[in-house]
Amino acid sequence: MTTPSAPARAVDVHALPTMLSALRLPSFHRHWQEFAERADKESWPAARFLAALAELELAERETRRIRRHLIESRLPGGKTLATFDFKALPGVHRARIEALAAGDWIETGANLIAIGNSGAGKTHLLCAIGHALVEAGRRVLYTRTTDLVQKLQAARRDLALEAALTKLDRFDLIILDDISYARKDQAETSVLFELIAWRYEARSLAIAANQPFSAWDRVFPDHAVTVAAIDRLVHHATILEMNVDSYRRRAAADRSAAKPDGTATTIADNLQAAEGDNVTPRKKENVEV
Ligand code: ADP
Ligand code: MG
Repeated sequence: MTTPSAPARAVDVHALPTMLSALRLPSFHRHWQEFAERADKESWPAARFLAALAELELAERETRRIRRHLIESRLPGGKTLATFDFKALPGVHRARIEALAAGDWIETGANLIAIGNSGAGKTHLLCAIGHALVEAGRRVLYTRTTDLVQKLQAARRDLALEAALTKLDRFDLIILDDISYARKDQAETSVLFELIAWRYEARSLAIAANQPFSAWDRVFPDHAVTVAAIDRLVHHATILEMNVDSYRRRAAADRSAAKPDGTATTIADNLQAAEGDNVTPRKKENVEV
């Protein structure tokens, strides 16, 4: 090469792996030799060789980022839209869920609230939406409400509640599962109100509750706080009412009603598929805040 800016001395090709590592270009590192052989064989111009590698680096960087964000999200494996049986939830339209999975509502810090009995599929559905959002480049955290409030309570004891809430701002969406299991007698739930107030109109929350709003007095310290929390949550929110029989119970009933030739009905089939995808048990982890 003889461009005026090219170095006069010989370039040390052997140092390439070290230089690519130092530049944090792992895809370049892995693929340059194979690309170079092809470029030589097919007489690619140098610019095409370089652009092909740069494209690959960017694409793989995005894949690595999504993988990192999926791990960080603590979303349980297998609870995706692909394994969700919409027929089992007649009141909730697929198009509505797909619109939520596209994520425009996240831009404005709106909320999503799923209310329904145990086994209705709230956790699965919220996690499926969370999963789709991570795939689309958003950052999501899935946590049981009690786990997060315990963390925030500890932060408050250390006079670090504001820092902990600020740290959670990096998540476009926090999925608070089983809010009804948080109890005011745990002396935890005023931090739950602080979290709701902190994220109001700025960052989204998705909440699963197996109790209607009228029973949320059991979650917050007093009625005024309950009203203030619900008011902020529902101001910009989609509310999914999921009052259907437990999916597990129906699947079990379907199985026992399956014909002797072994043809099981859809729900049982799909349940097995969903559970098959979720063979790795989630260990209970502390949420870093
Ligand atoms: P909830 O959170 O409402 O108590 P879950 O989401 O935990 O209910 O659902 C219970 C089980 O049934 C989970 O294994 C879940 O994956 C499965 N399930 C529930 N609803 C559906 C559905 N519509 N399609 C596929 N699997 C479902
Ligand atoms: Mg649940």
